[in-house]
Amino acid sequence: MFFEKKENLFVGRFGPLFRNRILDHGFSTRKGGISGSPYDSLNLGYQTGDVQQHIEENRKRFFHAIKIPSEQLAIPEQIHDGKILNVNNPGNFPETDGLITNTTEVVLSVQTADCLPVFLFDPVHRAIGLIHAGWRGTSKKIAQKAVLAMTDYFHTKPENLQIFFGPSIGPCCYTVGPDVSRYFSETALAGNKLDLWACNRDQLIEMGVSANRIIISRLCTVCHPEWFFSHRQSGGKTGRMMAVFTIKNTT
Ligand SMILES: [Zn+2]
Repeated sequence: MFFEKKENLFVGRFGPLFRNRILDHGFSTRKGGISGSPYDSLNLGYQTGDVQQHIEENRKRFFHAIKIPSEQLAIPEQIHDGKILNVNNPGNFPETDGLITNTTEVVLSVQTADCLPVFLFDPVHRAIGLIHAGWRGTSKKIAQKAVLAMTDYFHTKPENLQIFFGPSIGPCCYTVGPDVSRYFSETALAGNKLDLWACNRDQLIEMGVSANRIIISRLCTVCHPEWFFSHRQSGGKTGRMMAVFTIKNTT
């Protein structure tokens, strides 16, 4: 992942998605917004204690910078479960943690502050998916559920999928107790550290996704507090970053 400077903001991009002319995508950082501490400064999440007008201005800046119409946003009301929804129109989708689509009419989104944003792209069927995987979603194999949903709706073959992991809490920093570690096998843990990147990668490989088609940004939200919001690092009171993914209307 690289960060493209757009006006006062930085937009996280994956090279192969950035170069693909039928796609638009991006990942926000915490730089360039107007929110005060502890939401400083580009907080995009309404489900925080931040001032409403600040969030609106931050969103305006982000969507202006990436030139994506915010009216087309499909927003899953994330509950850290494993439900994936196929969406054809913008709106808020309750009790959903991942979205898939093959239309140009919507912009998929997820909001994170340590959870792993996963972009899925099927170039053969022109279909995309965007999920967020924290430890709960990962334990419920949400990445596998997204692949299955794309297979069901779009006839996606896992071996054609291109996968991109955005910034999240890394295995360097994700200390977990027995309440969390009991949901994972020993290979997912290094001592008391949970590796969301390895867990989700392994789940995707198990589904038939090629290992060399999974690109992991390896950016830890806890290690880079100047760039990213981190739920863990802040003790729970912080802003949200947003990942967006859409198929462009090229006709
Ligand atoms: Zn770290």
